[in-house]
Amino acid sequence: MTLAHGRHTLAIPGPSIMPDRVLQAMHRAAPNIYTGELLDLADSLVPDLKEVARTKHDVAMYIGNGHAAWEASLVNVVAPGETVLVPATGNFSHGWAAMAERLGAEVQLIDFGKRAALDPARVAEALNADKARKIKAVLCVQTDTATSAKSDVAALRKAMDATGHPALLIVDCIACLGCDEMQMDAWGVDIVVAGCQKGLMTPPGMCFVYFNDKAAEVRKRMERVSSYWDWVPRADPEYFYQYWCGTAPTHHLYGLREALNMIVHEEGLEAVWARHATLARAVWAAFEAWSVEGPIELNIADRAVRSNAVTSVRIGAPTGTQLRDWLTEEAGVTLGIGLGMAEPNDPAWHGFFRVGHMGHLNSHMLMGTLGSIQAGLTALQIPHGAGALDAAAQVCAEG
Ligand SMILES: *Cc1c(COP(=O)(O)O)cnc(C)c1O
Repeated sequence: MTLAHGRHTLAIPGPSIMPDRVLQAMHRAAPNIYTGELLDLADSLVPDLKEVARTKHDVAMYIGNGHAAWEASLVNVVAPGETVLVPATGNFSHGWAAMAERLGAEVQLIDFGKRAALDPARVAEALNADKARKIKAVLCVQTDTATSAKSDVAALRKAMDATGHPALLIVDCIACLGCDEMQMDAWGVDIVVAGCQKGLMTPPGMCFVYFNDKAAEVRKRMERVSSYWDWVPRADPEYFYQYWCGTAPTHHLYGLREALNMIVHEEGLEAVWARHATLARAVWAAFEAWSVEGPIELNIADRAVRSNAVTSVRIGAPTGTQLRDWLTEEAGVTLGIGLGMAEPNDPAWHGFFRVGHMGHLNSHMLMGTLGSIQAGLTALQIPHGAGALDAAAQVCAEG
C-alpha cells in the first residue's frame, strides 16, 4: 500500500508550486498578438515587476530561463576581454562564471565554498587590488539554491562603494525574488536578474533583467550587443513585438499577470517576504530538532545567512536518496536533490537533499511536507532528534 495518492506536492527549489489561479489564467484560446487586451496586459506587468525588485529603473523581459537572464545581463555590459569578479557561494556562481568565460570575459573567482555566504571585505580587497580598474562587474548570487546560503547584498554594495571602484554590481535573484527581500534601488544594485518559475509562481519560460541608469550608461558604451539580447528595445519598446524581439510568450503573460496580482495587489510584497521568513523559520526549527541526534545536518549553520526560499540538508549517503524516494512513493511529496555537493556518479551524491519553500506555500502545505519527512525518518529508521513538528508548529502558531 502507498499513501501517495492525493494531491502531489513538489517541494523542490524551483520550478515551484503553481497556484491553480495561475494555471487557470493560462487555460484559454490563443490571443491576438497584434491588437487587443494582450498588449495592455503586457504593459501592466512592467510596474508590478519593478515593484517586486523594488526599483524605479528599467526592466527587460525575455523568453527564457534563468540561464538566459544570466547571458542577457552579461552581453549588455561585459565585452570579450573584460574582467568580471565572481564571489562564489556554491553552485550557481560557478555556472554564471563559466558562461561569462564562454562569452570571452576574464573571470576572477573568489570561492567561499559550499557552506557560507560571501564576505564583502574580501570582494573589497579584490577591487582595491585592481589598480588598473579592469573589473567591469561583480556577479553576486543572492541565494545560492544549491547550498541555501544567502549573501548580504546591501553590505556588499557598501563595501564596494568604500573602495571607489566603478564595477557594476549584478545580482542573481533567480531563486529568491519574491521570497528573500530585495531592494534594488535602496541597496544600490545596478542589475538584477530573475526568472518567473520560483518565487513568481509561473511556469518556467520567462526571465527578467532589471538595470539602473549606471548600467544603462555602461550598455551605451558597448561596441556591440546582439540584437536578440539587447535590453534597450525590450525595456522601452516602440512596437509591441520589441518587448520580446518577436512573438510574445502569450500564455505566460496571463499566468504571470495572475501571479503578480496575488503577490503585489492582494497579499502585498512585504507580507509575502514575511510569510517566507516565518515558513523558513518553521523549516529550520524542524531540522534543528531532527539534527540533535543522528545524521541530519543543516548545510548552513548560521541562521543569519540562510535563505528564506530553500533549505539544503546533509544526511549521508545513501540515506538522502532513500528518504527522497520514500517521500515521493509513499507520501506524495517530492524533495529536491542535492545539487553541486558531489558529482552525480559519486556515491556521496546520495547524501543530500533540499526542501524548496518558495512561492505558493502556506503553513498547512509546509507542515504536510515536514510531517511527511517525519514519517519517512520513522519508516526508514533514520535516527533523529525529537520534537521537530512541535517546534515547527510553534513557529507557525506565533506567525
Ligand atoms: C534556478 C537558478 C538558476 C538557473 O535558472 P534556470 O531557469 O534553471 O536556467 C540560476 N541561479 C539561481 C540562483 C537559481 O536558483
